[in-house]
Amino acid sequence: MNPYWLEDEAPPRASTQVDDRADVAIVGAGVTGCSAALRLAEGGLRVRVHDARGVASGASGRNGGFALRGGAARYDVARETYGAERARAYWQWTEEALDRMAELAGDALRRPGSYRLAADEEEREGIRLEYEALREDGLDGDWLDDVPGGAAGKFLGAISHPSDGSLQPARFVRRLAARAADAGAEFREHDRVEDIEALDADRVLVATDGYGHGLVPEIADLVWPTRGQVIASAPLDRVLYDRPHYARQGFDYWQQLPDGRILLGGFRDVSIMDELTDVEETTPAIQASLESFLHELAGEEVEVTHRWAGIFGLTQDMLPLVGAVPGRDGRVWFAGGYSGHGNVLGFACGELVADALLGDTSSPQLELLDPVRFSD
Ligand SMILES: Cc1cc2nc3c(=O)[nH]c(=O)nc-3n(C[C@H](O)[C@H](O)[C@H](O)COP(=O)(O)OP(=O)(O)OC[C@H]3O[C@@H](n4cnc5c(N)ncnc54)[C@H](O)[C@@H]3O)c2cc1C
Repeated sequence: MNPYWLEDEAPPRASTQVDDRADVAIVGAGVTGCSAALRLAEGGLRVRVHDARGVASGASGRNGGFALRGGAARYDVARETYGAERARAYWQWTEEALDRMAELAGDALRRPGSYRLAADEEEREGIRLEYEALREDGLDGDWLDDVPGGAAGKFLGAISHPSDGSLQPARFVRRLAARAADAGAEFREHDRVEDIEALDADRVLVATDGYGHGLVPEIADLVWPTRGQVIASAPLDRVLYDRPHYARQGFDYWQQLPDGRILLGGFRDVSIMDELTDVEETTPAIQASLESFLHELAGEEVEVTHRWAGIFGLTQDMLPLVGAVPGRDGRVWFAGGYSGHGNVLGFACGELVADALLGDTSSPQLELLDPVRFSD
C-alpha cells in the first residue's frame, strides 16, 4: 500500500534546467537533498538533484511525521558521550532548525509538542534522568506523572517537549523542492545514479540516508540500512492523542492526524535482525503487532487503511555523518545516518553541508558530525 503521506497532491514545481556542468550534483531528493538544494541554489551555485524515484519517495515520505528537536540518543546519554557543551549546542541547533522549518512549512507543520512516555519502571528512571539533564542545561521540558488523553493510566510518566511538532513530511519536502526549483535547482526524478564519478558536476553530495547503500563504498560500513514499518487507521470520531507520543525507547510511536486517523509505527524489536535490511516491504509479524497495539490505543477495533515500510540509516553512535568523504579530495560529500530521527536533523544537516560546500565551515556541528571520526 502507498504511504498515507504520499497521497497528498504535490504542489507545482518549476521545471528548471541547469545548463552544462553543475557545481554540485545531489543524489537523493528527500529532506536532506531538498534542504541542501535550496540553500545551495540560494547561494548562487548550479545544482542538479537526481532521485531514483521521486521527491520524498524515500524515508522522507514514509516516516512517522514526528518533528522532534535533539538527537536520536537520550539527552543525558548524549551529554555523557560527547560532553555537556556539545550536547547542549547540538540540541539548541535542532531547536533553531525546527523554527526555520516552521517558517517554510505552512500547514505541513503543527507545533503541539510531544510526549516521550515511560512504558515501565526502567524507562521511567531513564527518561527522568533525561528530563533532569535537560532542565540542568536550561533546555525546556516538563515532567508529567499522569499523561492526559488516550494514554492516561497506561504509562508511568512522560516528558512533555513543548516545542516539538507534527509534520506532513511529504508535503514539507515537496514544498522545499518547489522553492529550490524556483531558486534555480534542477530536479531529475526517476534517474538512478549508478556511479557518482560519472555525474556531470564538480562536486557530489550523496543524501541517501538508508537507501543507496554501497554508492559510496567508504560509507557502506558506517550507515546501516534499517527498516521501519507503519500503519494508519481509518479516521476516529474523537481526539485521543493531541500530539506525537512515543515509548519503549522510541520503538513505538504514534499520533492522531487532523483527520482523526491514528498513524502508528515501530515494533522493530519484534524481529530486530530481520529489520536490518533495505528491502522496502512490510512483514506479517510486525504488522500484526502494530495492528493489535492500534486497537489498544483506539480502545476498539479500527480499520487499517494504510501499511508501508521505509528505510532509514543507522550509525554506530546514533549521530549523523555530515561532511566530505575522506580520501575523495573534497569532491564527494555525504549527509545522512540520522538513526530514525531525520525530519529535523535532515533539514538541518542539508543546510549544514550546503553551507560547508559554499565555503562556510564555522559551525561547531561540522566537527561533531564529521565522517572522519570513524577513520582509523
Ligand atoms: C518508517 C520510518 C519512520 C520514521 N519516523 C521518523 C519520525 O517520525 N521522525 C523523524 O525525525 N524521523 C523519522 N524517520 C527517519 C527519517 O524519515 C529519515 O531519517 C529522513 O527522512 C531521511 O531523509 P533523507 O533525505 O536523508 O533520505 P530519504 O528521504 O530516504 O531520501 C533518500 C533518497 O535517495 C534516493 N536514492 C537512493 N539511492 C539512489 C541512487 N542510487 N540514485 C538516485 N537516487 C537514489 C531515494 O530514492 C530517496 O528518495 C523514520 C524513518 C522511517 C523509515
